[in-house]
Amino acid sequence: MKYQEVKNYIGGKFVEVNTNKRLDVISPVDGTLLSKVPMSSAKDLDEAVKAAKAAFPAWSKMPIKERVQIFFRYKTLLERDLKALAELCSEENGKIYGESVAEIEKCIELTEFATSLPQLVTGEVLEVSRGVECRTEHAPLGVVASIVPFNFPAMVPNWTLPNAIALGNCLIMKPSEKVPLSCGKIAELLKEAGLPDGVFNIVHGDVDIVNAICDHPGIEAVSFVGSTKVAKIVYQRATQNLKRCLALGGAKNHLLVLPDAKEDMTAANVVASMSGCAGQRCMAASAMIGVGNVDHIIEKIVIEAKKIVAGKNLGAVINKESKERIERYITEAENQGAKILVDGRNAVAEGKEQGTYVGPTVIDFVTPDMSVAKEEIFGPVISIMRTNTLDEAIAIENSNPYGNAASIFTQNGGYARYLIDRASAGMIGVNVGVPVPREPFSFGGWNESKFGVGDITGKSSIEFWTKLKKSTTKWNPEAGTNWMS
Ligand code: NAD
Repeated sequence: MKYQEVKNYIGGKFVEVNTNKRLDVISPVDGTLLSKVPMSSAKDLDEAVKAAKAAFPAWSKMPIKERVQIFFRYKTLLERDLKALAELCSEENGKIYGESVAEIEKCIELTEFATSLPQLVTGEVLEVSRGVECRTEHAPLGVVASIVPFNFPAMVPNWTLPNAIALGNCLIMKPSEKVPLSCGKIAELLKEAGLPDGVFNIVHGDVDIVNAICDHPGIEAVSFVGSTKVAKIVYQRATQNLKRCLALGGAKNHLLVLPDAKEDMTAANVVASMSGCAGQRCMAASAMIGVGNVDHIIEKIVIEAKKIVAGKNLGAVINKESKERIERYITEAENQGAKILVDGRNAVAEGKEQGTYVGPTVIDFVTPDMSVAKEEIFGPVISIMRTNTLDEAIAIENSNPYGNAASIFTQNGGYARYLIDRASAGMIGVNVGVPVPREPFSFGGWNESKFGVGDITGKSSIEFWTKLKKSTTKWNPEAGTNWMS
């Protein structure tokens, strides 16, 4: 085992978990056993809630300008340790090093946003009648929790932790049991940055601990990022327990390609979108719809896809089950009559034979009723459908239950606007394959890609992590009565 057994992080200390249930943490890169992760109990969660509750009064009373000083320091520490963090992220998740560097750079950008929060939470004040003033302030919620998926071991935790904490909350993080290591490093950096003990805590586990978080009466709000199936469970359970909840789910993102699209740029973007992070991104292109004759662009997509080599510029998928699932989808499409233009099945990365790789896969002549057209595959696979009109393409996009992203590739601004107005997705790209809004814009999909109000990052997150206090004051009692008295 390469690293020590993973521990919970409670009250500023790494603590042993008293359990016999531990899962192996295996590197998808080459099958190395990295560590073991404990499955915590409701009792462990309770310890974390107690520590967070104890830290809350002092932390929430600290002025926000003082709180964000810790995030200025945290940002510097992320920059200092970028290489080590990126290496760890690649090791546990399987993505290639450059993608992990980009992930840590995104953590830095998210932290930069948190340092700007004092500028954004100033509240409002107005003299509403003579001598009477109404004022609003954003108050923190208390102890909050964040449940995160495997595909971004550092970035998704940093979608929530800098904002939730800078806004005065104390947070309990539940990392994915598949990639529990990066969060430990994040805890160390927060401590080094001066974060008081108990403000950030980690509790490891899987289903049971997620249920315990949804049920715990001491937790005020739960954010979740993961599959739609679990997002629904968490949203229903947390809100049934009267908690505030924002649950982001899975995706099936469509790229609409028009014949006038710039060939080289479009092909490069389609391939980068479907194969980046081995297709394990909720913003990855999963379906392409060629509107009219786009054969010339598909030819270039095939050339580009063939440049992607497992283990070199393409990372591994998370585990054996995932590899098998993705390959089953490809085989099923083939059996149903689709044409496999580039076949990523049975990929082996040289020197990493125990790794779990799927090569880039381009499937043409897919029809909207096939599973590869409808379901989230979460692998480096693009399913190409063809339509005669933009309206037919938009109808396919709209009929999908998800709604994270949709993009159009064209040189025609009118067609681009037509898609923006009609796509049933929260994040739209025009000649952009992965239309992730950058800070200060917020991240969040529609439909079955997100349950709850608002978005998870950017300004929108302020509403989620705070509650409004409204005060009305009268400072000149001698002025007599007014309509409010
Ligand atoms: P997952 O839903 O399996 O797991 C997410 C979290 O939920 C993990 O911490 C896990 O321990 C926990 N969990 C798993 N099964 C559970 C259950 N039955 N009950 C309660 N908790 C459970 O997701 P994943 O496989 O880790 O991540 C991939 C998924 O996440 C994809 O569907 C992807 O699209 C989605 N995702 C969405 C976004 C977004 O912004 N919408 C971002 C990243 C990932």
